[in-house]
Amino acid sequence: MDQFQLRDGVLHAEGVPLPDIADAVGTPVYLYSRAALTAQARAFREGLAGLDNPHLAFAVKANPNLAVLRVLQREGFGADVVSGGEMTRALAAGMAAEDIVFSGVGKTHAELLQGIEAGIGQFNIESEEEGYELALLAERHGKRAACALRVNPDVDARTHEKISTGKRENKFGVPIDRAASIYAALSAQPGLDMRGVAVHIGSQLAELEPLEGAFAKLGALIAELRGAGLSVSHADLGGGLGVPYKAGEVFPSAAEYGAMVVRATKGWDVRLMFEPGRYICGNAGVLLTRVIRSKRSGNGPPFVIVDAAMNDLARPAMYGAWHDFDAVEPTGEHMTAHIVGPICETGDTFAMDRETDALSAGDLAVFRTAGAYGATMASSYNSRGFVPEVLVDGDRFAVVAERIAPQAILDAEHVPDWLA
Ligand SMILES: *Cc1c(COP(=O)(O)O)cnc(C)c1O
Repeated sequence: MDQFQLRDGVLHAEGVPLPDIADAVGTPVYLYSRAALTAQARAFREGLAGLDNPHLAFAVKANPNLAVLRVLQREGFGADVVSGGEMTRALAAGMAAEDIVFSGVGKTHAELLQGIEAGIGQFNIESEEEGYELALLAERHGKRAACALRVNPDVDARTHEKISTGKRENKFGVPIDRAASIYAALSAQPGLDMRGVAVHIGSQLAELEPLEGAFAKLGALIAELRGAGLSVSHADLGGGLGVPYKAGEVFPSAAEYGAMVVRATKGWDVRLMFEPGRYICGNAGVLLTRVIRSKRSGNGPPFVIVDAAMNDLARPAMYGAWHDFDAVEPTGEHMTAHIVGPICETGDTFAMDRETDALSAGDLAVFRTAGAYGATMASSYNSRGFVPEVLVDGDRFAVVAERIAPQAILDAEHVPDWLA
């Protein structure tokens, strides 16, 4: 169920009218629904009911907010992290070190060490070079690091090119045709406990076939590794399940995904691991914004200038992504408009020629499906601050990330003595 719905003509987040939040916290502001987060987390888990004890790790990069992580920790999720900073957050949210998986193509020496010292559950190694470095570090600390080898299966995820990760030319993982020899070499390292293989072919996947194709290749690899006398007890199937961004769009359900996984992994005899991000939080958040003013543009539709911008929500500028845009108090009238932010870039455009609720200066509106890859991608471009985040739970809400004002950012900058 959508947790952002009209009640008596006013858009609510669960039981809270959005104007109340705008009054209390100001705009722009990200809002997350706890009920939506838990519903998605449970739907994902239930979709995998046909598996024996799957390991669920939320992909922190999709929404690293501490309170969001805590909601998911309470749903029994661990974390898939891609930096030391994300690891710190997952631990701060109460996720067990054992339930943390560390992915990423460029883990630094310091980050590998951080993972070893924290005792995280699994490193997903993305190159032979990284494996040797980790092996040395672990040995030096008298430990064996549990590892999976991330494989690049050379499968086209049929998603946006900037979020496709499983094709040969992408930087992620080791080429599948070299995976067996690399796995064998790393298995001989005393500092490593090579226990499995991993894939993640991309994000916002609209179809299951590319995933199924990747899993088939992974299954063949597992058989090959075992044939060579190597041990494989885990397989990490990554994330990538897409979510609808437009009302009416239909995406594979968690149940369909789960059924495909059961089919594709039959006989693997491993513990399966998952790293969903967007599926869990994408539709659990909106970006609440206020119209600054409308501006006529020649003969074309007007520009509706809102107080959110590409620095707050980068997806439209970065990927040409669509976000549904709705008035908080719709009058029933409609208009065609270009929806833009205040930033001095033409890319700061959320939508062109958008059929939308009629809006004028001072009105509130939301960009929907902003719970994933929203606040986390924010910058302070144009010396704007960082947008606050609010978590709603029933009829209560709390600021879970404060607004960072431009002055606070300025306070961290210094003019050197020799320029004084
Ligand atoms: C980004 C990422 C995910 C999550 O992807 P979603 O599309 O948000 O589910 C999972 N695993 C890895 C390694 C990632 O980089």
